[in-house]
Amino acid sequence: MNLILFGPPGAGKGTQAQRLVDTYGLVQLSTGDMLRSEVASGSDLGVRAKRIMDDGQLVPDDLMIEMISRQIDAENGSGGIILDGFPRTTGQAEALDNMLDTKGIKMDHVIQLEVDEDAIVARLSGRFACSSCGTGYHDIYAKPEVEGVCDKCGATEFSRRSDDNAETVRARLAAYNEQTAPILPYYEEKGSLKRVNGLDGMEIVFAEIRGIIEGE
Ligand code: AMP
Repeated sequence: MNLILFGPPGAGKGTQAQRLVDTYGLVQLSTGDMLRSEVASGSDLGVRAKRIMDDGQLVPDDLMIEMISRQIDAENGSGGIILDGFPRTTGQAEALDNMLDTKGIKMDHVIQLEVDEDAIVARLSGRFACSSCGTGYHDIYAKPEVEGVCDKCGATEFSRRSDDNAETVRARLAAYNEQTAPILPYYEEKGSLKRVNGLDGMEIVFAEIRGIIEGE
């Protein structure tokens, strides 16, 4: 099974993708995570991407399409993929369709997590993650059980994304509204778009996604 998780920054795509990985053995392909690894490695692409990401803009389509194509090839033969953060422009959506046709892969569901902008700013500005295992937390909504200690792996170092600040969040939302939201009618016309209220609790959102996947 292959699916696309769609929605603005802070809609919960990463959190839900992780649940889907744990439950269905799918592989999460997050273009944001791929770019953050490039940044951490100090590669030429990483240096270029960091400036764009910190401005809340989108990395050029050609780079993203090549990156995702390589990763899809690397995961071919696994139980299925979740695209998280791709496609983000009409050009990427069209390139993805061609790519999937060529590779003989079918996309089963496009699931949109709907959230309003005020909620996004509140969510993103409090986000942090365990530096060791990547488990996500929030200053208000999802604190670790013991302050300063990761629930999952016990590590005590945490990090915040440099683009989770109010100014960059506003630019990321503008990029979403201008360049990413216009893809929705494309998937709607194809009949593959399903909507879920991303403002519901994490468990409710996950149950709805399971319902879609399992055809309930
Ligand atoms: P994310 O982790 O999905 O919120 O992505 C973080 C940042 O990486 C975005 O704000 C963009 O600058 C960049 N990015 C991630 N995915 C894409 C994509 N598919 N196309 C262009 N830029 C992307």
